[in-house]
Amino acid sequence: MDSKAGHIKVAIRIRPLLDMDINSALTFTIDDNKSIKVNYEDQEISGTYDIIFSPKATQDTIFEFIEPVLQDTLKGSNLTVFTYGQTGSGKTYTMFGNDWECTTYSQLSRCTHNQNEYATNRIGMIPRSISSLFNEFENSSASFSSSFLQIYNEHIYDLLRDPKRDTALKIREDKVHGIFIEGLSEFEVETEEECLILLSKGNRHKAIRQTRMNQSSSRSHTIFQIFIENNQSDSLRRNKINFCDLAGSEKYDKENSMAEEHINELKQINKSLSALGQVIHALASKNVSHIPYRNSKLTRLLQDSLEGNSKTVLIATISPSAENFEETISTLTFADRAK
Ligand code: ADP
Ligand code: MG
Repeated sequence: MDSKAGHIKVAIRIRPLLDMDINSALTFTIDDNKSIKVNYEDQEISGTYDIIFSPKATQDTIFEFIEPVLQDTLKGSNLTVFTYGQTGSGKTYTMFGNDWECTTYSQLSRCTHNQNEYATNRIGMIPRSISSLFNEFENSSASFSSSFLQIYNEHIYDLLRDPKRDTALKIREDKVHGIFIEGLSEFEVETEEECLILLSKGNRHKAIRQTRMNQSSSRSHTIFQIFIENNQSDSLRRNKINFCDLAGSEKYDKENSMAEEHINELKQINKSLSALGQVIHALASKNVSHIPYRNSKLTRLLQDSLEGNSKTVLIATISPSAENFEETISTLTFADRAK
């Protein structure tokens, strides 16, 4: 199946060293923005990816990489963007950014006041994409709607309607809708503002836990979906964009005693991330006929956004601190298998 090949882009983003990092920075050698080598004591890991973003890369730079793929999607394919990495490596910063809830990206980017410029620079990929989509379709008949869900311990919950995780939702499939989540709310959005309000509402409802690396480590995979319905040559077309901020990929730390509940969360997270790894690897390899979508809720619900002529972008985020070298190796290895 030639439709499987060539639609996965893999990026690495190294975040800058921050106050919370105990150790000094690792040495990264980046070649041609594509190859990376990391050394620590007597260990070394290297790899080649579609693009490497150094700690200096801004949110603008990341969006410049995403925007062409987003534009392609608007021509009629589905898109899924993942952020993958250990807790504290910058997944949520990359997806959402900081200071994005105060106003729309369009409004902010029109301001020249210094403080606003600062905020604009910190805004992540989702608010920028929303702004770009609404600009693109300003004078068209396209209609937009959005859903926001989380997968916690292999159960799917509606982030917009079920913050307490009372009702786990089921994945269904039929001839009319393809794969869908029964009972998941989907809200029509007419403006950038309305779309951001949904994003911000769901964002407050994520399952989080405090860890040292992150004030509010996400224990669930969250997926913000935008559906675009558009009349194209007399037929109604529906495209899906999924922004998937994955739960932290760190391994269970035996040195650190943990509550039963926390250990179980970690096991479930690792299981579904490994299922995702297998699916992406199978999609990227030309000779695999069976793609194991059914091994996790995450891959099953995203199946029709990953297969066929869909586009997939994986942004693997890594910490620059020596303390996290083991996790950095594991993230780079995961990203390597995705190519
Ligand atoms: P994750 O979602 O992977 O657990 P976060 O995105 O929440 O990690 O990032 C952890 C902390 O590091 C946050 O305080 C975030 O603002 C900061 N951070 C992450 N990436 C960057 C970056 N590229 N530039 C500046 N700060 C960043
Ligand atoms: Mg996060």
